[in-house]
Amino acid sequence: MTGTRTITLLTVDHGLVTLDEPAWCVGHTDHRPETHRADILHKGPDVELTFRGGEVLVACLAQSPYATLADSELGGPTIGVSVYPPGRTLPPVGLYQLAASLDSYADQIRGLAEQLTRILAGGDR
Ligand SMILES: [Zn+2]
Repeated sequence: MTGTRTITLLTVDHGLVTLDEPAWCVGHTDHRPETHRADILHKGPDVELTFRGGEVLVACLAQSPYATLADSELGGPTIGVSVYPPGRTLPPVGLYQLAASLDSYADQIRGLAEQLTRILAGGDR
């Protein structure tokens, strides 16, 4: 397939809106006609961190082409990665900061495992 993919969505404030559909978007099957145009959201597949069935962190590509928010971390026309929690849309530098935080958190968890192992072995009080 060649050319630009478009979609047409019904909105409460602008009627039918036709816009480009990026290749990474999972589609708009959950779109509701009472949506405002500014709330149209392109969303990529979820990248989830789960542990024992519980969701810890979820991230996905996101873009709201008609949003006019002053804070780009709340979403907007620039493509970002939506991360929840904390419910922010991050640029690449923010994603690398998040990844660094997760690396250092994993080290802390391993440190706790080692401390607990020593305590359980009676070598630490
Ligand atoms: Zn889309």
